[in-house]
Amino acid sequence: GPSEPSNPSELIHRHRAVTPSWLAVYYAEPIELTHGEGRHVWDSQGRRYLDFFGGILTTMTAHALPEVTKAVAEQASRILHSSTLYLSSSMVELAEQIAELSGIPDAKVFFTTSGTEANDAALLLATSYRRSNQVLAMRNSYHGRSFTTIGITGNSSWSPTSLSPLQTLYVHGGVRTRGPFAELSDAEFIAACTADLEDLLGQVGGNVAALIAEPIQGVGGFTSGPDGLFAAFKRVLDRHGILWISDEVQTGWGRTGDHFWGWQAHAEAGPPDILTFAKGIGNGLSMGGVVARAEVMDCLGANSISTFGGSPVTTAGALANLRHLLDHDLQGNSRRIGALLSGLLRAADLPMVREVRGRGLMIGVELVDSSGEPSAAAAASTLEHARELGLLIGKGGLAGNVLRIAPPLSLTAEEAAEGAELLIEALRRAQAESTDRATTDPSTTDPSTTDRSTADRSQERDPV
Ligand code: PMP
Repeated sequence: GPSEPSNPSELIHRHRAVTPSWLAVYYAEPIELTHGEGRHVWDSQGRRYLDFFGGILTTMTAHALPEVTKAVAEQASRILHSSTLYLSSSMVELAEQIAELSGIPDAKVFFTTSGTEANDAALLLATSYRRSNQVLAMRNSYHGRSFTTIGITGNSSWSPTSLSPLQTLYVHGGVRTRGPFAELSDAEFIAACTADLEDLLGQVGGNVAALIAEPIQGVGGFTSGPDGLFAAFKRVLDRHGILWISDEVQTGWGRTGDHFWGWQAHAEAGPPDILTFAKGIGNGLSMGGVVARAEVMDCLGANSISTFGGSPVTTAGALANLRHLLDHDLQGNSRRIGALLSGLLRAADLPMVREVRGRGLMIGVELVDSSGEPSAAAAASTLEHARELGLLIGKGGLAGNVLRIAPPLSLTAEEAAEGAELLIEALRRAQAESTDRATTDPSTTDPSTTDRSTADRSQERDPV
């Protein structure tokens, strides 16, 4: 029965047999999480881990937050239903709060069950409002893997197929570590990307619906252009009536410490026309949504999009979660503890670490090999070593070589220090391993053999 600890190797075997081959799971021996508390989780073998990834940023405040558990249990004990055909006071109250927090004037809110579905809905709105299926997305972007969202996801290795119903052009600006604009100053970078955007619009010639962008690219490896980039873009977009969609699935809810939303780092141009959110708001419950100006939100002709859209139980849980976040100033905690954690990781000054970047508790650690090339193998090996040491982290990046650190926003200073120590030890072990590899097997330092290996390709196909 479900209360008995399962045999991990048997469960892995059954999982592989019954789920699609492309359903990625972390670790050579995947983990079954059985419970959590605060910033810690336990697996079915009773091993405890400090959680520095929160299930890809889905645990926003803390594991097993009593207020959320209570709100969900109370609602579930009264009625579990999901139809948008009936009123729900928790849904209305959550929508009111999110509309207010969004910074979008005259905002309306529509709930979905995931970030992918939120971006689908945002594209449905933008393309319908503008009567065009031509959209702009950023290079290195990730917005989901449904039929529409693969069309705006910038890296083919993150897409299950190359077919898409959208016409998409990709804009420069999300990544600065590579590319023709890498060496420019902030102001020059913004000017170059903006000129490139204008050039692109000149080439399209026709009506463009929207630009969709992550303020900080998540799956892309926690990378971004300089503050103010989207303000410069928005001035160009506004001249053409093109909508700006800010995908806040990873950057929302104070995650970046400095701001409640990622778009606020570009605030001089005002708020986006459409904002999408998901992940953290539900603290693990399936919830996403779209915020848009009423004029845009109300442009659709039909009745609804799905049966599901902010059920009483998910919205009750999300409300309790949001209340906790605001009452305890977890955005401020993210800023303070994020700075502490980034500082500790930078101070370690490890040769394999090319850059520690980030904002608040959204920290990317980019890894390279001894010749300075992106090293997916180092990231994969660090992930395994961290797990052995009792620390869960994530990875991402175009080359699969960026560690992603995104703990629950209630992380304490002691936990940050403990996690930094574990991560640094994991990096040292991975480093030692790669040095051993390089001295025993010269073929691993030859990029023509390492870059194209099956193992490396599978590492690039990072989950979400
Ligand atoms: N947008 C961004 C920026 C994301 O990071 C993700 C998921 N990693 C999505 C959209 C898709 O969200 P979901 O997995 O909830 O469908």
